[in-house]
Amino acid sequence: MKAMAITAHGGLEKLQYLDVERPQVGPNEVLIETRAAALNHLDIFVRNGLPGSRLAMPHVLGADGAGVVAEVGAAVGGAKIGDRVLVDPGLHCGVCEFCRAGEHSLCARFGILGETCPGTFGEYFKAPQENVHPLPEGFSWEEAAAFPLVYLTAWRMLVSKAAIKPGEDLLILGIGGGVATAALQIARAVGLRVFVTSSSDEKLQRAKNLGADVVINYKTQDYAREVRELTRRRGVDVVLDNVGGETWVKSLGSLVKGGRLVTCGATAGPRPQTDLQRIFWNQLSIFGSTMANMREVAEMLNFVHKRGIKPVIDRVFPLSEGVQAMARMEEGQQFGKIVLKIRDDA
Ligand SMILES: [Zn+2]
Repeated sequence: MKAMAITAHGGLEKLQYLDVERPQVGPNEVLIETRAAALNHLDIFVRNGLPGSRLAMPHVLGADGAGVVAEVGAAVGGAKIGDRVLVDPGLHCGVCEFCRAGEHSLCARFGILGETCPGTFGEYFKAPQENVHPLPEGFSWEEAAAFPLVYLTAWRMLVSKAAIKPGEDLLILGIGGGVATAALQIARAVGLRVFVTSSSDEKLQRAKNLGADVVINYKTQDYAREVRELTRRRGVDVVLDNVGGETWVKSLGSLVKGGRLVTCGATAGPRPQTDLQRIFWNQLSIFGSTMANMREVAEMLNFVHKRGIKPVIDRVFPLSEGVQAMARMEEGQQFGKIVLKIRDDA
């Protein structure tokens, strides 16, 4: 089958449009004929090579995908051939202490589709049966592929970790990325006032169109100062910071006393300076978050469906142009999700 795969770890030149073996399903797995798949920053990290990871080459990238069930393993109960599905990309063992407690993204052997096993950027991919969910009503294949990873990540960060409430103020750094955009949509639907930052006025305008209440260009304005002014020196209740680096101290400085900061990434650097005095004196809470557990995935799917939230799609490329798609993401040009269309039929 055709796939976008890497032949070795490294730069964009290691990503190629290749013929690879079609996946063989195990007893508890489902084979999906892919209709669409979506890119995540994770794909770049996997391509570059994650510490301690050893992958069989060529390795098919991709965590997000949607399509039609083409084959089911002998022990599969729910899914049937012909079902239209999307997948939860989080892979877990099911038997460790964390899985038994329902905290699947804390699993001692946690992995992600396309990170620890072949992914969705091919004409077929396989997934464990418990990861397969029916396609939400009214969703196109591109929309279905575009939302699982970032929406479930944003859901756990905001709803489970930061416990957002209607009427609160939320600051989201770096609007444009998939998690930030998903967080904006979820927070607006819950009823928060949302502040967003970007270095691009065009992205800020698009965020406004999506419901952002306050937009701040961090290239021309000091966002921590702006936030304090706009909140009458109070600060926001919650900051979603997946940037790290030099934003970290400013994020702490944007919070109200007793405020909450939640992080799921560090694109600008994982070892920022911090401000312990501010953390203890203002009694701030800092939450780390990764992916989501199975309950949160179900809650998020239900919420998105009921509120009519649709993922923001930046651009759709054919599978054969996966290299151009990844280049666009790597340059940070996108607003919302970059999608690969894999097969045309319904
Ligand atoms: Zn486990």
